[in-house]
Amino acid sequence: MDSLSCTPFAAVAQAMPPSVNFHLWEPCNMRCRFCFATFEDVRRDVLPKGHLPKEAALRLVELLSRRFQKITFAGGEPLLCPWLPDLAAAAKANGATTMLVTNGSRLNADVLARLRGVVDWVTVSIDSVSPRTHEALGRAVHGKALEPQDYQALAERVHAAGMRLKVNTVVTNLNAGEDQKAFMRSLRPERWKLLRVLSVDGQNTGKVESMRCTSQDFEAFVARHRILEEDGIVLVPEDNEDMRGSYAMVDPAGRFFDNADGGHRYSEPILQTGLDGAWSQVHFSLERFIQRNGFYDFGGRS
Ligand code: SF4
Repeated sequence: MDSLSCTPFAAVAQAMPPSVNFHLWEPCNMRCRFCFATFEDVRRDVLPKGHLPKEAALRLVELLSRRFQKITFAGGEPLLCPWLPDLAAAAKANGATTMLVTNGSRLNADVLARLRGVVDWVTVSIDSVSPRTHEALGRAVHGKALEPQDYQALAERVHAAGMRLKVNTVVTNLNAGEDQKAFMRSLRPERWKLLRVLSVDGQNTGKVESMRCTSQDFEAFVARHRILEEDGIVLVPEDNEDMRGSYAMVDPAGRFFDNADGGHRYSEPILQTGLDGAWSQVHFSLERFIQRNGFYDFGGRS
């Protein structure tokens, strides 16, 4: 759906949550089959490069960071964006808490040094202890996955840099039977988000059917790992219904979007329409945001 065909969803102002995800960059160096955010439609219909020019992205981040308490920079793979440190610095300058969601493949010591002081949280997407499972999922660069010790070294670097660590895991039928307790204890994230693989029309259509995970298997995965909370790791499970319409999200073209009805619904561009006008064109449920534990201690504005 392009911006012109978008239908305003809500005529009255709806609540905004304190956090927003800015998917600033469509390109990615991995090929996860379940990827919820391929944005192939964005690239095809409105944004051939898959991202805004740097100056427009900076203006957008300034707008967002004056309104939202936390900005999460996601992709694609945001570490492929050369001006990510500038965007994070702009958000920090306006007092927002900043988070990066990365697949970890580019998070070396030099990159971390450039992000130090402007990125508060690092979220690493890790689905499995097994590199072979990651390769089967497509969580790999040129078919080669990171090894567990690579993730452990990466986690140590994040801790040493004084950044807060979170892990995101997508649970499919390829990893639902795993016991990841020892691995997660070695990484020591503060939060571990567990997402049941979700089918999103136009993003991963035709790719996730063979890796579906039943609700029971997802709940068993969560229950198997609950004991990690005794080690200070907060588990944040999100089943499919929790994930729909419960996020404020901005696409690489600078439009709010939601997934409440199965595919992406896009607003008009925020830089043209303004934050409130664009926000009124997507669907968001504050109730679901609260249910999925969206309010937590981000670390405060600084
Ligand atoms: S690393 Fe993230 S953005 Fe890239 S393909 Fe995998 S899930 Fe999608």
